[in-house]
Amino acid sequence: MSLIVQKFGGSSVADAESIKRVAKRIVETRKAGNSVVVAVSAMGDTTDELIDLAHEVTPFPDGRELDMLLTTGERISMALLAMAIKSMGVDARSYTGSQAGMITDAQHGAARIVDVTPVRLREALDEGAIAIVAGFQGFNRDSRDITTLGRGGSDTTAVALAAALDADVCEIYTDVDGVFTSDPRVVPRAHKLDRVTSEEMLELAASGAKVLHIRAVEFARRHGVTMHVRSSFNNTEGTWVVNDQDAREPGKGIGVEEPVITGVAGDTSEAKITVVGVPDVPGKAAEIFTIVAKTGANIDMIVQNISAAATGLTDISFTLPKVEGEKVLAALRAEQADAGFDALLFDDQIGKLSVVGAGMRTSAGVSAQLFRALSDAGINIEMISTSEIRISVVTRADTLREAMRVVHAAFGLDGEAEAIVYAGTGR
Ligand code: ASP
Ligand code: MG
Repeated sequence: MSLIVQKFGGSSVADAESIKRVAKRIVETRKAGNSVVVAVSAMGDTTDELIDLAHEVTPFPDGRELDMLLTTGERISMALLAMAIKSMGVDARSYTGSQAGMITDAQHGAARIVDVTPVRLREALDEGAIAIVAGFQGFNRDSRDITTLGRGGSDTTAVALAAALDADVCEIYTDVDGVFTSDPRVVPRAHKLDRVTSEEMLELAASGAKVLHIRAVEFARRHGVTMHVRSSFNNTEGTWVVNDQDAREPGKGIGVEEPVITGVAGDTSEAKITVVGVPDVPGKAAEIFTIVAKTGANIDMIVQNISAAATGLTDISFTLPKVEGEKVLAALRAEQADAGFDALLFDDQIGKLSVVGAGMRTSAGVSAQLFRALSDAGINIEMISTSEIRISVVTRADTLREAMRVVHAAFGLDGEAEAIVYAGTGR
């Protein structure tokens, strides 16, 4: 008998009909002889609606109370799902995050899981019942308050449960068929991947692929949880996110003849700040990025030009989430006199394209092939950064979609047919 954790996102439980459909699917898994634990998100756009409602009451909702409010979304779906399953003659019990033993730190809105003590879930499973757990929420022991894990956190709930219960697999049900080589809405010839390593998945998620929550992938990688991302609208196999160890096992693994590039991701959520005329002396980068760090902003790429010999001044550009642009600019402006740079430029019309693939480690010429494909399409590269298994370039935002298509084709990733895109968002 296997223990399977299944996670259903908001789009899979958007209304009563969907909940009944999902219930049927869970019951089938149970009847096939498996123990089943389910993590469920709030119905449809419930979480967004609750956030809007809070902001109608006050522009700055209190963190503790906001978590209290938002966790109700998942309580609705978990209870309805348990009812639906029971009406099919199968035992099911719903649990809030705290009842399920999801212990977190005290940070409201972005809590991190510190322990999972699923005593009640084990009891339910031992009695043959299906345990339904509210996603995205936990409990802090010191404050004794309810917390949330941050937007999209139900994936992380599912993976944490799978790790704590030593489940055989964590199935992430969504409204797309799996992880694709690129976003099929942008690249019609994108195709579904049968397998991807957690390392590649992390890079793809960090580069703008939205199908999985990055923290969930990190958690799965650290705790050796195998994930299977699949559609709740059909029964086809989705994408297995395997830990690299598994990937290399003969028979199970990613063959040596697999393409060097696994996926092409695009991201238009970042902006670029250029600090112009920075004195090219030791300590200046440290000074500038200390100012930036104090704002809590998350920096992505950094490029420093060589200084002009005549002036001894250089420019430093970096990218960061657009939403953090204003506060970082303000912080830098406030320290401009001390730091001694000339000016600040802000550009929120950039797009970032990333190619990811574990095969890059053993292949030469990937960068050249990427840059050639972009140049053939007349697309200018403004910044470049690399990791062991990723190359990212910054282009103009309005050329990003075209860039993704030509690069996808250049690396031989185009599938035979156009991908089927369902109505959903991929979340
Ligand atoms: N309902 C939460 C959200 O919309 C958590 C989730 O969907 O994973 O962010
Ligand atoms: Mg949601």
